[in-house]
Amino acid sequence: MPLYESAAIILRSMRLGDSDKLVTFFTYKYGKMKAVAKGAVKTKSRYGGRLEPFNLVNMIAFGKEKAELLSLNTCDIQQMIPALCANLDTMARAWACAEFVDHLQRDRDENKEGFRLLVSTWRELAREKSNARQDLLLRIFQLKYLETAGLKPELEKCSGCGQKGGGQLSGFSARRGGAVCRGCFQADPTAIRVSPGAMMFMKKGLEMPMEKVGRLAAGQSVVEEIEKAVATFIQAHVRREMRTDRFLRLSALPVGDPGK
Ligand SMILES: [Zn+2]
Repeated sequence: MPLYESAAIILRSMRLGDSDKLVTFFTYKYGKMKAVAKGAVKTKSRYGGRLEPFNLVNMIAFGKEKAELLSLNTCDIQQMIPALCANLDTMARAWACAEFVDHLQRDRDENKEGFRLLVSTWRELAREKSNARQDLLLRIFQLKYLETAGLKPELEKCSGCGQKGGGQLSGFSARRGGAVCRGCFQADPTAIRVSPGAMMFMKKGLEMPMEKVGRLAAGQSVVEEIEKAVATFIQAHVRREMRTDRFLRLSALPVGDPGK
């Protein structure tokens, strides 16, 4: 029976029956994989607290070639990002990233770039205190992750007629696949208006490494525009609203931003 050994991120962990846990790993080598950790719920479990989300681990699991569920053999922590759990807002955004990967990533479809992107985004979220900048990090992460999955929105030219020129692009049509010019915007009732500023932040965010995205000073309204554009794009192309995203909107995030 094949053995699978890889660095991995724990995306989700849930109880399975009386004593086991079902763990969703995002592995570096093989992509997303689910494994059963026998006896993980027991007090004296050999896994201890290692199967908690946000942990970077080294895992060994085994199972048949195309098995949906593997059996976990060992799981050792390589790194923890404790600051992610320091407050509820940061944790909610870290969750949103994990859930995004969980939904978008098919089982056993490796995505090394996506793996590195998730780790660097979590590090930046842990470092960043401002709610507005954390929101921007989350949205740019989503855009970048879509790109790693081959779903990059078109932002350079009109996705309707192909017309080039940044200044002319005044809307975003998820159905068309990205930015649209004034004419195509008016012809598409599903398109939303996106300001030149928000368009620029999306383009810049896609170009620069995650470590630099936190330095971008985007106002709250720009972040909201990006959020809306990304959300419509995800709905059109992934067709499911993320649970954590709904939570982020419903939970009353502080109006004043102490980190600004
Ligand atoms: Zn057009």
